[in-house]
Amino acid sequence: MRHIYKCVKCSKYTMKEICSCNTKTILARPIKFSLEDKFSSYRRKAKIGDYGKRGLL
Ligand SMILES: [Zn+2]
Repeated sequence: MRHIYKCVKCSKYTMKEICSCNTKTILARPIKFSLEDKFSSYRRKAKIGDYGKRGLL
């Protein structure tokens, strides 16, 4: 199984341990799951924003 790495500097996903920008990458979960994470955290943030606007938080 191949690992997917993510560059902490330019946030690019790569199969290499060193990014093309010469920064060491960190082990990342598959892109699919990361995208889902992004969406759910965005939704969470949006919700919090909603509550904040209504003065419920
Ligand atoms: Zn990079």
